Amino acid sequence: MFKKIILLALSLSLVFFSSCKGEIQLEAQTQIALGTVCSIKLPKGTKNSVYEECFKILSNVEQEISRTREDSYISVLNRDKKVQTNTEVFQLFEYAIDLAKESEGKFNIAMGKVVSLWDIGGSNQRIPSSLELNEAKIDYNEIILDKANLSISIPSNMEIDFGALGKGYAGDKLRDYLKSVELDKAIVNLGGNVLVIGNKSENQPWTIGLQDPNDIEKIFVALKVEDLSIVTSGTYERFFYQEGIKYHHILDPNTLYPSESDILSSTIIGKDSLICDSLSTTCFLLGREKALEFMKNYEDYSAFFLLSDNSIVTSDNFNYEYRVFEN
Ligand code: ADP
Ligand code: MG
Repeated sequence: MFKKIILLALSLSLVFFSSCKGEIQLEAQTQIALGTVCSIKLPKGTKNSVYEECFKILSNVEQEISRTREDSYISVLNRDKKVQTNTEVFQLFEYAIDLAKESEGKFNIAMGKVVSLWDIGGSNQRIPSSLELNEAKIDYNEIILDKANLSISIPSNMEIDFGALGKGYAGDKLRDYLKSVELDKAIVNLGGNVLVIGNKSENQPWTIGLQDPNDIEKIFVALKVEDLSIVTSGTYERFFYQEGIKYHHILDPNTLYPSESDILSSTIIGKDSLICDSLSTTCFLLGREKALEFMKNYEDYSAFFLLSDNSIVTSDNFNYEYRVFEN
């Protein structure tokens, strides 16, 4: 665990590689939250209470949706098969179910039981038997949403997992808070979910590096962005090898096995972190061809994919400046 966190911390610093140089000096504070390394970079001299409030927001999100907190809404739902939520979490359910329908069921929060059986990156990671996998209920149409009472019910043998959108949800909360206290420059990194506020200086966007899936200590591309979220999903984050085969943490609801996508690293850029986070996972699962078609429904969001043959493709509307590194 410790080794993994050091590695993650190292990789996060690479994400900031070129954003630290230049006129504006940012200062980072880092904590573990939402199961990952979360780093908040704010202009030097920002009051400590602002950083503290940011980490409190992350802790509140954990309290709402983390599967490792026994009393989160999600844990209660997974245990009791029924829970009453708050409005925001209820809306997350509505959003996730809409996305499941839109993505031919590839993005599926009802995969919780399957996610637990594989436990990729956890202490019990293993290949589950097909018997175990087939016992899991994953039909998101069986999630019952009672809007009047903000209550959610699921059948036995189903569990909910917000792993593919939780950090995005948290990112939007941090952005709203930082803007409410009038911070106009910041870089937030929640385990690879990056959010930038403002720009580096007038006419100069921030530069954000994306981790190279073939060598996670390097970046393979630097992107110029301002006031946006940049979220990447890939197989290099959580995985294990068995008999030479790589098993990673983005699971295909059709096979209940790790997705055999032709995308190595799927990045979505746009305003809301929640949308970027959920779409990056969705695009990964859809694979290049369907993902590019799917992204046409999201004209305010752009995609940047590194494919398994190491070529790069972008969505038609992608118009950010970028530079590729030969590693
Ligand atoms: P990360 O959280 O590591 O940045 P993602 O955002 O791509 O990566 O989310 C992957 C996580 O989403 C998995 O660890 C698991 O919790 C969950 N998940 C796995 N398969 C699916 C799926 N088909 N649909 C929705 N969530 C999934
Ligand atoms: Mg995601």
